[in-house]
Amino acid sequence: MLFSQLLIPTLKESPAEAEVISHKLLMRAGFIRKLTSGVYSYLPLGLMALRKIERIVREEMNAAGAQEVLLPMVQPADLWAESGRLKKYGPELLRFRDRHDRESCLGPTHEEVITDLVRNNIHSYRGLPVNLYQIQTKFRDEIRPRFGLMRGREFIMKDAYSFDASSDAADRSYEAMKYAYHRIFTRCGLRFRAVEADTGTIGGNFSHEFMVLAETGEDTIVICRSCSYAANLEKAACAAPAPASDEMQPAAKVETPGKRKVEAVCEFLGIEPSRLLKTLIYRADGQPVAVLVRGDHEVQPVKLKNALKASEVELATDEECFAATGTPTGYLGPLGLKIPVIADQAVLGMRNFVTGGGEKNFHLTNVNLGRDFTPGQVADLRMVTPGDRCPLCGGELELTRGIEVGHIFKLGIAYSEALNARFLDAEGEMRPFIMGCYGIGVSRVLAAAIEQNHDQDGIVFPLPLAPFKVIVVNLGFADEAVGQAARSLYQALRESGIETLLDDRDERPGSKFKDADLLGIPFRVTVGKRFASGGLVEIRERASGKITELALAEAVERLARLTATD
Ligand code: ATP
Ligand code: MG
Repeated sequence: MLFSQLLIPTLKESPAEAEVISHKLLMRAGFIRKLTSGVYSYLPLGLMALRKIERIVREEMNAAGAQEVLLPMVQPADLWAESGRLKKYGPELLRFRDRHDRESCLGPTHEEVITDLVRNNIHSYRGLPVNLYQIQTKFRDEIRPRFGLMRGREFIMKDAYSFDASSDAADRSYEAMKYAYHRIFTRCGLRFRAVEADTGTIGGNFSHEFMVLAETGEDTIVICRSCSYAANLEKAACAAPAPASDEMQPAAKVETPGKRKVEAVCEFLGIEPSRLLKTLIYRADGQPVAVLVRGDHEVQPVKLKNALKASEVELATDEECFAATGTPTGYLGPLGLKIPVIADQAVLGMRNFVTGGGEKNFHLTNVNLGRDFTPGQVADLRMVTPGDRCPLCGGELELTRGIEVGHIFKLGIAYSEALNARFLDAEGEMRPFIMGCYGIGVSRVLAAAIEQNHDQDGIVFPLPLAPFKVIVVNLGFADEAVGQAARSLYQALRESGIETLLDDRDERPGSKFKDADLLGIPFRVTVGKRFASGGLVEIRERASGKITELALAEAVERLARLTATD
């Protein structure tokens, strides 16, 4: 295609509201334009890049045996009432009334619609398994739409839903999707990790988030330096410490007037925070629980919730703490508590530590677990920190940042039960479908690819996602032979099936080079002075800046090799 004929409204400056690099560059390179908060138009180059992602997604979903459908965006509120989500989903669900005063909503996700489709059309185990997917525009009235395509209100998602007759079969459907996702993000040319995510009530390793690794990511993820272990911060586990073996010293009560905070107590007593035991009171489903962690560690509420098998945990207020223990906060300790006590496993590695004294202005020193108190439960409760040990291999854990581009989840029977979606099994019994759901934020993938791949000059597209693989820069405006050579090279590249953009604009070389860099096209071929003097053209690789000069006649073959992808 010709640069002069495409709508590529590049900008010198990025809009003031653009906070992250992908948003800035997508705007500056003329890929997107904002219509209103969280709602964007895709211009030709933006759409081309999106289509690249969609194509890879489609090919891999089809290869995994999923079937493409296209479901309505407008959905009747009744269906959402049936699943119970009309109330639960909250204001992210955009609701409106039609001319007949029927309540409708715009689909933020399609579990209800797909379950309705399947309950009406599949009645027997013979029709299973089935996996249906679509690539479609979603609407979520996000409270804070921001970062351009990263968190829009309107965005493009691939969503797939599997229906199986047994839990084992559902696990196989899940594994097939996990494999397909690995292939998709590998083929997109992205550095990513599949991380274990919290499954809440479902349990097992049946929720993974696919994270594109990028320093600017919103999510913190934990990865092992030595093995493939990766988990999000809510779920990340760490290895238990070696049990303490130092000799126990006699416990003593010390006065610590006004010292309530960890730092203050440690400074006053001249100890490290790792020698202090914090006692925190949480409310788990309304009931008080004492939670013990080392002074330098933090409780991870999701891990606590799972360990207690509670559906909600919340830190208690000072008043609630006092009501549950009779001690003001700051001086709480585990001794003599009348409420359940749960300790983080790291506490097993502590000896002769300090705890609150159970009364105002006092602490206890040389306290020991087993001798002075015994918690009812010990579990892995804390937030992992860098340098902790991997639960699988003992290697060093590292915290890094990622952008969630995909999420796979074994749903079980929650939706099929709620919507009474059942099939006749081989024994003649009616049973609910066992479901899984699998999302990819297609438009977010484009933003994430740029967050991961850019430099100070612009986008550096991974080859498989670039709207064009090659840009031919014609610098032959004063020399017809040069212009002719650029045009014929462009034709020859196109005939070889290489997606090529010809920069045919009568602009200064500098500004053409700047635009080529900004757009992130992987290979730039310049036809200019060196062609006039010696028949040579220059190929420059966007990512490495590597320059190769070669004869025009060799350029097509060389570029065909350089741009080959699977
Ligand atoms: P998040 O935690 O980022 O809000 P989510 O848990 O709401 O994500 P899902 O409901 O699992 O996301 O949606 C599937 C995928 O759709 C996500 O993995 C993400 O890539 C993408 N996605 C979700 N919300 C948005 C949004 N507002 N804009 C763009 N992409 C989104
Ligand atoms: Mg969300």
